[in-house]
Amino acid sequence: MNNRTITAIATPLGDGALGVIRISGDKAIEIADKVFFPFSKKELCDFEGYQAAYGEVKENDTVLDDAVALVFRAPHSFTGEDTVEISLHGGSLMLKSVLRLILKNGAFLAEAGEFTKRAFLNGKTDLTKAESIMGLISAKSNAELKLSRAAHTGRTFKKIAKIESDLISADASIAAFSDYPDEDIEGLNAENFSKMLSNAKQELREMLSTFDAGKVLREGIDTVIVGKPNVGKSTLMNMLSGTERSIVTEIAGTTRDVIEETVTIGEITLRLADTAGIHKTDDTVESIGVERAKQRIDTAQLCLAVFDCTSQLDEEDLNLLKLLNRENTIIIINKTDLENKIDYSAFEGFRIVEASAKNSVGYKELEKQITEISGTANLSAESVVLMNERQRDCAIRALDGVEEALNALNIGLTMDAVGVCVDDALSALFEMTGKRVTNAVTDEIFRKFCVGK
Ligand code: GDP
Repeated sequence: MNNRTITAIATPLGDGALGVIRISGDKAIEIADKVFFPFSKKELCDFEGYQAAYGEVKENDTVLDDAVALVFRAPHSFTGEDTVEISLHGGSLMLKSVLRLILKNGAFLAEAGEFTKRAFLNGKTDLTKAESIMGLISAKSNAELKLSRAAHTGRTFKKIAKIESDLISADASIAAFSDYPDEDIEGLNAENFSKMLSNAKQELREMLSTFDAGKVLREGIDTVIVGKPNVGKSTLMNMLSGTERSIVTEIAGTTRDVIEETVTIGEITLRLADTAGIHKTDDTVESIGVERAKQRIDTAQLCLAVFDCTSQLDEEDLNLLKLLNRENTIIIINKTDLENKIDYSAFEGFRIVEASAKNSVGYKELEKQITEISGTANLSAESVVLMNERQRDCAIRALDGVEEALNALNIGLTMDAVGVCVDDALSALFEMTGKRVTNAVTDEIFRKFCVGK
């Protein structure tokens, strides 16, 4: 279906033991035969799928490298097309020179994501699985890898397929009912339709409810640590960081040396913005100004507010407390290895963790509270987690359609009207998996991939 045969280096350019060049398309094997010569003298075009040959890559009579070529026959390959993968020694100069040779012999350089796009267009993968490949490749945490793996094995696709099939049955029943309203056919009644639609609504809601938690696992959570000087903020940072601490970004144009550090607690990465204040121990509400403190607290997804339990709360502690939101703050009562003089009534409605940062006490409880506040505690091994905003947007539109259909049923609109809403929901789901999707959407999705994927 694609007449251009494409090629690209599939492995990172660097000094690796091996590097792989992939060729895919109708002429993949023919082109490979022009550059790769098996020691067995048998040409690749005589190979069956999944067969490999050891031989030499040659340009005219010059041997560029010895290599292994692996032949895949359509449709049994990643792209669904004839494919050859040539494994060479992994230096980037070597790979580039062999790539040039393959291009000279009739292949075209693949565009970003073109291999995966072809896999999708040839029905080898749906969009949710294709998108999970990006997660598999770029995962920065075990949790992200696990989520991407689950999507890659088809968990999201299966869940969507189940909702789709429920909605298709509902749609068919609704159509039958509106065609033969006077027939008393079992199951064809508003009550039953409502039940079918409510199930779909519930499943879509569950799927959407894990989105934020999935995002936290993938991207981490913006966190701010606040508190007066000497309450133990730096010590808390040290407790959290263990060996995982890293300085990850510098924001151009600012004079501060440290803008964001990350620490990992359990499976969650905390992105600690603006830690310069902490290191200088001048991070007080008074010194940074109430407005700025408020801004920092409001823009963070998670706020760890540290208080020293060895003295009663003073005015500055109370001023800080006024700035905190109960929804995203964890109060850390620190130095509990010493006499605790703090009055807990000021913290009513807040999550509280008692800690002794100096002695690494309170870590487990803090991990538990962060897991709860971020919603990741609600994720189970079976959860279907949407991978990106596109999938979320499709799920929201599907849910809107189902809710409108239910509403139309409840207020007694015609069955045709109900059916139109169900169709809208189905269209959104078809778009999510790619069963019905515009070229513009597919182009946009695959453009985000790298060349060679
Ligand atoms: P910051 O100004 O808020 O960053 O506070 P620091 O982390 O620099 O700590 C101030 C002082 O409190 C240091 O002398 C720490 O050793 C001490 N400290 C911090 N956490 C604890 C704790 O849990 N117990 C005790 N006893 N001392 C602590």
